[in-house]
Amino acid sequence: MNSPEQRTSRPVALISGGSRGIGRAVALRLAEDGHDISFCFRGDEQAAANLEKELTASGARVLARRVDVTDAAAVRDWADATEKELGPVAVAVTSAGITRDKPLLMMSDDDWHDVVDTNLDGAYHVCRAVVFPMMKRRSGAIVTVSSVSGLYGNAGQTNYAASKAGVIALTRSLAKEVGRRGIRVNAVAPGLIDTDMSAVLDDQVKQQVTARTALGRTGLAAEVAEAVSFLASARASYVTGAVLPVDGGL
Ligand code: NDP
Repeated sequence: MNSPEQRTSRPVALISGGSRGIGRAVALRLAEDGHDISFCFRGDEQAAANLEKELTASGARVLARRVDVTDAAAVRDWADATEKELGPVAVAVTSAGITRDKPLLMMSDDDWHDVVDTNLDGAYHVCRAVVFPMMKRRSGAIVTVSSVSGLYGNAGQTNYAASKAGVIALTRSLAKEVGRRGIRVNAVAPGLIDTDMSAVLDDQVKQQVTARTALGRTGLAAEVAEAVSFLASARASYVTGAVLPVDGGL
């Protein structure tokens, strides 16, 4: 954290799962857009420290917190600390997510609940923590990170697809609840993006997915961040309840 003397009036963006992959790219992109950044991560201290350094060097004030998004109280504390230390949260992005891919027949209860708790409950906890202060200020933008699996389903991902479909339903419903309070809520639905999460997939699976895209390639985290940047900004002032695929034309 920088000292209060260094404070400026930059808007604040809060990003769950900001330390790696898509969340990291979003943090860097929103800092480039002029935001101070509060991000959380679950365990990878090194990745978080690297990002914190990079963001600080770019001129952003930064709050990096180890917070498990499945823990509602911890997410609330993080959101409160963000408002206290950086200022009002103007933008929230829910990027923390995990996979535990396997056919339903092989799936353990833990596989199911870990994924739903992290991806769906985690997104809910973040929205719940930021929405009331946003309502009081009658302004804010929330961007959730869903997936094409949540739109179309995917064999081997019943848990993940269900969690991501839930994120879409949460997004559209919340958009309807808070639109008149000046808050927009949108989702991005990425296809196959090059991150640690997709690195564990077989090359054959990746080739099959890539072959089904119009652009014939996987996507970059920065390309998802670009879409998030748009939805979070005033450029998207008449866009809410939308689900923007960022999937190369799957
Ligand atoms: P990564 O595995 O690269 O990064 C995941 C990030 O989420 C890390 O910062 C990780 O922190 C954090 N995280 C995971 N679990 C928790 C938790 N319980 N509490 C707090 N932070 C947590 O994933 P991606 O960047 O690829 O994925 C980001 C989002 O995009 C996810 O929601 C994912 O479902 C979605 N997505 C990804 C696609 C892809 O192809 N990569 C496609 C479609 C959607 P730490 O490192 O400390 O564990």
